[in-house]
Amino acid sequence: MKKNGLYSKEEKIFQDKNKLYRAHSVKQIAYSTDPRDFGQVAKSIPCQEACPAKTNIPGYIRCINEKRYGRAYELNRGANIMPGVLGRICSRPCETACRHGAPDNGVSVGICHLKRACADLKSPMHRIIEGLYAPTGKSVAVVGSGPAGLAAAHDLAILGHRAVVFETMEKPGGMLMYGIPEFRLPRDLLMTEINNILRLGVELKTSQAVGTHITLETLTEEFDAVVVAAGCTKPRLLGVEGEDLENVYNGLDFMKAVNASNRGQTPIINETNRQSNRGLSPIKNVAVIGGGFTAVDCARSAIRLGAEEVALYIRKTMDDMRIDETEKHEARFEGIGVESLVQPARILGENGRVSGIAFVRTRIEKTGTPPFKKSVPIAGSEFVVPCDSVIAALGQAPDVHDVSDVLTGLDKDTPATGMKGVFAAGDFVTGSTDVISAIAGGRRTALAVDLYLTAMERKKTVVRLESHATTDRPRSYDFIDRVPMNTIAMDQRLADHTNEVETGFDPDQALEESQRCYLCNLKYEIDPLRCIYCSACIDVAPKDCIKMVETIPVNADGTYGRYAETGQWDKVVSITIDNEACIRCGQCYAVCPMDCISVTKTELIQMDMDE
Ligand SMILES: Cc1cc2nc3c(=O)[nH]c(=O)nc-3n(C[C@H](O)[C@H](O)[C@H](O)COP(=O)(O)OP(=O)(O)OC[C@H]3O[C@@H](n4cnc5c(N)ncnc54)[C@H](O)[C@@H]3O)c2cc1C
Ligand code: SF4
Ligand code: SF4
Ligand code: SF4
Repeated sequence: MKKNGLYSKEEKIFQDKNKLYRAHSVKQIAYSTDPRDFGQVAKSIPCQEACPAKTNIPGYIRCINEKRYGRAYELNRGANIMPGVLGRICSRPCETACRHGAPDNGVSVGICHLKRACADLKSPMHRIIEGLYAPTGKSVAVVGSGPAGLAAAHDLAILGHRAVVFETMEKPGGMLMYGIPEFRLPRDLLMTEINNILRLGVELKTSQAVGTHITLETLTEEFDAVVVAAGCTKPRLLGVEGEDLENVYNGLDFMKAVNASNRGQTPIINETNRQSNRGLSPIKNVAVIGGGFTAVDCARSAIRLGAEEVALYIRKTMDDMRIDETEKHEARFEGIGVESLVQPARILGENGRVSGIAFVRTRIEKTGTPPFKKSVPIAGSEFVVPCDSVIAALGQAPDVHDVSDVLTGLDKDTPATGMKGVFAAGDFVTGSTDVISAIAGGRRTALAVDLYLTAMERKKTVVRLESHATTDRPRSYDFIDRVPMNTIAMDQRLADHTNEVETGFDPDQALEESQRCYLCNLKYEIDPLRCIYCSACIDVAPKDCIKMVETIPVNADGTYGRYAETGQWDKVVSITIDNEACIRCGQCYAVCPMDCISVTKTELIQMDMDE
């Protein structure tokens, strides 16, 4: 890093070499549909491969490094539609896959926090990039304005179709608006990103429940196609005795009530008590059943709304909870307890109101199908936990009473339904997942609808290959600790339940975190015809990343298989860089006496069929 205005000797060498490269080289660009290139991208850029929307993660992190926040935001937006939203609440499968988190490499890059950084730090007047197609004269009705419906409407509008979104609720956004609490996702930011979608000409009709205000049949008559993205809005019940007692809430209704109260309003939980007219004392001790997004949001909301003690009760272990480590940390910080390996047997009551829960203990048993384990109750292990309210947050299922016909003949892959011209998307198809999967699903469905309407495949995914300078990334960057997210203090969290907990990175923090990324989209290759097998590159390599190989097998799909390595010089057919192990330090590039190591930037991009 630059200290006192000076660069280290190591950084200076990198910069000089890069300057030379830039002065003398002409960039070469190619587009490939070769399976080997797709295979290389999938294996070498694990974060992008893990992202359901295939966001160009190293591409946008590099832009942040160059302080091009607007470009970084647009690179995100081109794949995931709502970077400011996802930068706050994404489930982050990319970070689990990030190479920086591999054994011996440290901790994964803060990919999600960097996504938020480009949304926060870009100019409010940055240029939005949309490649609009000519109008087709076709129209599509979208049922539901959650992330899946919005993503489908966005892409359909870009493809030139008229998109009209029908939404039961008063406001758009689905679970983004009514499920996720404001202390994790500010609503002005959410509305800005929704409005960017509506600006494309997408029509939004709120307070319009399909099945109640307008029938699905009418939509099929009035529109050329229909996309049902109605989510999972029916809460799962506990199914135990006592569920009908006062002060037993279901998680989704609880969060809807919390999210309906505005900034500075009286805490809902105590408001409910006051309105009940039964002279009950305020809620003090809350038991939340479940360990997913909804459960943790309910627990954290209950703390903000005046509860004194809140605990989560989960059937498996904390490691099995489907939420991010940061959220687990914040919940712990806010004083929320977790009791693992338990399941409720019945809810106990006095005078019609909750007085406690009887739990049984569970143990984990292995199974032959995903997720390869289940919890099993242990006989005779019952125990009672006193509490005055229960929130059952066991997830949701599709509420199909209005649109039940759609599920007949649903093909989850295409995703067409048994009804002609009717498609489905998001959680409605897959069951409860997460926002990025819903967005990816909405986009996939939009392409299927476009094919149905135009009988043409209008977009194709290709690998863009561009010759590149070396990484410009000194080895010292590998030892930078992950930059922690800034958060507000506990008293500010309790002062107003809408106060956003995480406050984002400043430009220096964003720069520092961006330096940690290895830029796995840069492919290092040795030209075997120029290599003199001096092994200078192997000597400087910080990892086992340059291999002497005997053969490189090719898989049935055309991608390369594992190298057959050899330690015997007489068997070596080439010295090869293993891009799955390479951390893009550039040391080999710097020492090679033959200049036979090249760097190519690889990106997945969508092109028009006639480009
Ligand atoms: C409390 C909570 C917290 C969560 N936290 C996270 C998180 O931190 N990160 C994450 O990635 N995911 C999170 N999730 C999950 C995520 O919100 C969902 O997976 C995602 O919103 C699904 O998107 P969707 O568009 O498929 O459905 P939804 O967001 O459910 O949207 C469906 C929309 O369809 C509307 N609708 C339904 N029926 C009709 C009808 N008949 N007519 C018209 N409109 C209709 C509904 O009103 C709703 O607006 C959370 C979910 C909840 C409940
Ligand atoms: S180091 Fe960067 S490019 Fe590589 S997997 Fe992690 S975030 Fe992605
Ligand atoms: S850039 Fe070269 S030396 Fe550095 S990790 Fe990659 S292959 Fe190894
Ligand atoms: S330093 Fe260059 S010439 Fe020497 S073995 Fe490595 S690639 Fe070949």
